[in-house]
Amino acid sequence: MLPFLSVSELQAQLRSKAVSPLEALEALEARIAAVDPSVAGYLNRDFAAAAEAAKTADVTLPLGGVPIAIKDVINVKGQPCTCASKILEGFISPYDATVISRLKAAGAIPFGRTNMDEFAMGSSTENSAYGVTHNPWDLSRIPGGSSGGSAAVVAADEAFAALGSDTGGSIRQPAALCGCVGLKPSYGRVSRFGLVAFASSLDQIGPFTKTVRDSALLLNAISGHDSLDSTSLKEPVPDFTAQLGQDLKGIKLGLPKEYFIPGTDPQVDAAVRKAIAQYEALGAEIVEISLPHTDYAVGVYYIIATAEASANLARFDGIRYGHRAAEAANLLDHYGKTREEGFGPEVKRRIILGTYVLSSGYYDAYYLRAQKVRTLIRQDFTNAFEKVDAIICPTSPEPAFKIGDRSDDPLRMYLADIFTIAVNLAGVCGVSLPCGFAQVDQRSLPVGLQLIGKPFQESELLKIAHAYEQSTEWHKARPTIG
Ligand code: GLN
Repeated sequence: MLPFLSVSELQAQLRSKAVSPLEALEALEARIAAVDPSVAGYLNRDFAAAAEAAKTADVTLPLGGVPIAIKDVINVKGQPCTCASKILEGFISPYDATVISRLKAAGAIPFGRTNMDEFAMGSSTENSAYGVTHNPWDLSRIPGGSSGGSAAVVAADEAFAALGSDTGGSIRQPAALCGCVGLKPSYGRVSRFGLVAFASSLDQIGPFTKTVRDSALLLNAISGHDSLDSTSLKEPVPDFTAQLGQDLKGIKLGLPKEYFIPGTDPQVDAAVRKAIAQYEALGAEIVEISLPHTDYAVGVYYIIATAEASANLARFDGIRYGHRAAEAANLLDHYGKTREEGFGPEVKRRIILGTYVLSSGYYDAYYLRAQKVRTLIRQDFTNAFEKVDAIICPTSPEPAFKIGDRSDDPLRMYLADIFTIAVNLAGVCGVSLPCGFAQVDQRSLPVGLQLIGKPFQESELLKIAHAYEQSTEWHKARPTIG
């Protein structure tokens, strides 16, 4: 069945003319109609516009005729962009984000908006103003977050691939919990022009795919310097598929002792340790390393990310975009009412925290100090990468939890990102890929393996991920939805 294909497999079918882009799109739409009422991964789709694009798609292009799902935080001209927030209800994007114009130039069809935590703040997609997304492996569980919709639609074969954004783990963690491949590129690798900003020193856009090769293909399309985003770096963009298939002789993988801790679910720990043994069998050398400032990562992140969010979200004032309060006595009252009505509780909590840590008197005690510790965290990675080629660890300390289970405990929710956050603080790249299952309540729940790579060494990272993927069967497992 067509929707079950990877991007690479679909391309082969399109290029041999076994199927047309329109047939592929129609098959996908039928699959969505069958399973999305249970999964609820999509917020919106414009099938008619996608069908028009499919009719003229050039299948000789790198992603010619391939429909791609887009997290609802990335602007696609003419489509809604709500960031899963009431404050952007009814907003239609006036332009394409750079990743979208690049996908289109590569022949892809940005098709459908996926659900997320409001403004990408969360780890479960429960913070969406438009309902929760369900994990395809167990519909009573969360898909992870904040890009939970993107992960779920790829895992449920309702998308061949998707884009998400990752500020503290929002691509890797949902990919782990849904059993797909999620890549956070190095800071500066991919332009954020047209991505609604959450925390500008941490945000990156990246792909969700069914295979490592597909991840490389999408990264090929979206990478590179962009004059519209001065934080995108002028680093050369290699062909990220070029190293796939090379062996792992001489590769050193670092096992950070701070990431193998008692709080991790025993089944997650066991699956990751098995993956490490598999890497040894593939010829990699495992080296114990230390990232000594790991304990501070979550605390530092929640100071820096909230500070930047409070500044970035100031633009939602009820005048320029989306929701506008009906009646207001004066301008300040208008701002207050609009934001009170438009933002959900988690977003308000972050804005208040961020405003507090930036306020005079507290700036030095919190924000400035957090920036200094961030430098130490980054240094930990620089030191580690002098000894090893990549770092290996779990992506998430536990498999997907039940919807509603953590809702009244924000601190516990924040700890879900304990293994992913430092990667963003350091600006390095990371990928999560399936490495097994945990058996919980008679259900199989995916477990993710995280590999962390040197800045701008995504080629090497994907090579290491690919070797493991190809030596196991995990990426072929599919959920039975229902
Ligand atoms: N879960 C983290 C948070 O809530 C990370 C989110 C993200 O990467 N966008 O901030």
